[in-house]
Formats: sequence, C-alpha cells, structure tokens
Amino acid sequence: PVVLGVESSCDETGFGIVSDGVLLGQGLASSASQHAEFGGVVPEIAARAHLEAAVPTLRIALHDAGVELRDITHVAATSGPGLATAVHVGLAAAKSVAWSLGVPLYGVHHLAGHAAADTLEHGPLPAQSIILIVSGGHTSILHVKDLVADPIEHLGDTLDDAAGEAFDKVSRLLGLGYPGGPAISKAAVGGDPEAFSFPRAMLRPGDQPYVFSFSGLKTAVARTVESLERAGEEVPVADIAASFEQAVVDVLVTKALRAIEEKGLDTLVIVGGVAANQRLRAVAQERCDAAGVELRIPPIRLCTDNGAMIAAVGDLLVRGGASPSGLQIAADPSAVLHGAQLPLPAGF
Ligand code: ATP
Ligand code: MG
Ligand code: FE
Repeated sequence: PVVLGVESSCDETGFGIVSDGVLLGQGLASSASQHAEFGGVVPEIAARAHLEAAVPTLRIALHDAGVELRDITHVAATSGPGLATAVHVGLAAAKSVAWSLGVPLYGVHHLAGHAAADTLEHGPLPAQSIILIVSGGHTSILHVKDLVADPIEHLGDTLDDAAGEAFDKVSRLLGLGYPGGPAISKAAVGGDPEAFSFPRAMLRPGDQPYVFSFSGLKTAVARTVESLERAGEEVPVADIAASFEQAVVDVLVTKALRAIEEKGLDTLVIVGGVAANQRLRAVAQERCDAAGVELRIPPIRLCTDNGAMIAAVGDLLVRGGASPSGLQIAADPSAVLHGAQLPLPAGF
C-alpha cells in the first residue's frame, strides 16, 4: 500500500505518506504563531489555517515522497479526538482525496497516531509494550499489544491537566509564551533542577499507581513566583523552569517504569509532544538503562503532531486487513482510545 495520512486535530496541518512501514515523505504546516497572542489555540483560527494549508501541504508531502497523487492506494485521517472545527477540515480533505481517487478511507484515533510514530523510526512494536503518551491534551499509560488489532488497555490517565498543558500553563505564568514546552526547555538550560522541590503528585503509597495530577504543580510554581515577587526578589526563571521539568519528568518516568515492572514487560515507548523534551528523554534513558528496559522514543520531529504518524496507523490497518471506515465517517472530537481505528469495528 501507499497510504496518505492526514492530521488536523489541533494547530498542525500534516500530510504524510507511508508504505510498508516506511515513511516516504511528509508536509507540515502550523498555525502556532497565529495563536501565540491568545496564549492557546483558537479553534476557529486553527480551522481556517487548516483550510488554507491543506492543498499546499499535500503537494509538499507528495513532492517530498516522490509520488503522484494517483499513486495513493489508501487514505487515513485523524477523525478524533481534537478540536471539532479543526478535525472536520482535515477529515473533509481526506474524504475528498479518497473519493476522487476511488480508494478506501480509514478513520484513525489521534493518540494511536502518536504511538505509531515510533514505528517509523524503530520498526514494528514488540508483542507487548507500555506506551506513555504525553501530549498537549493527554497523559496516559497504556498497555498495548497489537496496536491496530487488539483492544488498548488504559492503565491510567491524568485527573486534571495533561503534561503538555502543564508546560503551557507554567510557561504562560513565567511569561515565556506559547507553545510552552519548547519555551520552558530553552529557559531551563543552565538552571538547577534541584533549586526548588516542587510537588510530585500521586507518588505516595496508596495513591493510584498510574494516575497523574499536574494542576497542583502548576499552582506550586505560581505560589513560588508570587512569593518571590512579593519579597522583591528576582525570579530565577532558569532554576524554576528546570525544577518544574524535573518534577514532571520524575513522576512520568517513575509511573511508566512501575507499569513495566508490574506487567513484566521490557519495552517502554514514550510518545506525544512532551516526548520532545530533552530532560524527559535523558532521565527516561538513564532509568531504563538501570532497569534493563528498552526505551523507544520517536525522533523529535515525529513527537509533535504530524501526518506521517496517521499514515503509519493507516498502513498498519491496511496490512492487518482492517475494513475501511468509509466516506460517511464523522468527526469524533472526544473519542476515547479503545482501539486505533475509528469508529471501532463491530465486535472489537
Ligand atoms: P493531543 O495529542 O493530546 O491531542 P496535541 O496534539 O495538542 O494534544 P502534541 O502536538 O502531541 O499535543 O504536543 C503538544 C504539546 O507538547 C504542547 O503542550 C507542548 O507544550 C508540548 N511540547 C512540545 N515540545 C516540548 C518540549 N520540548 N518539552 C516539553 N513539552 C513540549
Ligand atoms: Mg501543536
Ligand atoms: Fe497530538
């Protein structure tokens, strides 16, 4: 198969082309700069930007892959979860391409896309793995068997803010801008990660082992900044950013490795936008090495939203013999991750 993947769930417009597990090429546009002044993504602006970017970005992907539109044999698109206005645009583009070529269309769960991104770099997933998804809207520990053929077991999620959301909120309160992840990481360079001991929520004995909470951490950072300002002291932004990162990373890696141990598995996969974070990558590598666990993290460009990861799921679905979702598929902005395809096939 030569599978075209389409992603438009947030502020990235992505088209990717994957064949037999190999990424042939991709195109990516972002409206992030248009949202910066609002401190977060504005759905209507994102939708309009997807509309404007769709055709040019598809052309870039085809050119990058060295294929013609008529070479596409299947189309896969994020049909949820995401911003309703934004998902609709990419899904409509995907339907148009599939209809005009007369090829099958597959609806893909965005988070399955994040997980599949890793296969483009490191090959097929092992028979079983623990996948830690850390993105702008989700923080989940999953027990994954066959990503496209088996139900996905949720071990735990966040009670409040997602890890990426925590980065974005703390960035805003430190005056570092949007998106927050890269901004905090940059500010944290040279900072002392032990300067402030911010709370590590849900790590006490008796706490739910795989459940996260990041809103208290955000509040703790806010209180720290306020009391420094009240005392007329300079706010050590690098130290605060580094200490905040360390607190987030500590909880994420501790819980993910706990899942690995409890399930008796040996492969941890970390995906999603926050997996681009260097401190997370370094700390996870160190602790996985110490525990004899294989760590897989996609290259940074495949961590944040892109079309290649959606094409990767489509390619797995096609090769796994899945039935197409069909052109009548609707966007599902709050889709829960039970399986990689949307809607879930009957009897899944
Ligand atoms: P979801 O996938 O849950 O629907 P999303 O698609 O908006 O949400 P992603 O594109 O996967 O999320 O990731 C974006 C998030 O990743 C943002 O919150 C951003 O701040 C965070 N992020 C990006 N780069 C980094 C980094 N280097 N360090 C930490 N966080 C980062
Ligand atoms: Mg984004
Ligand atoms: Fe995402």
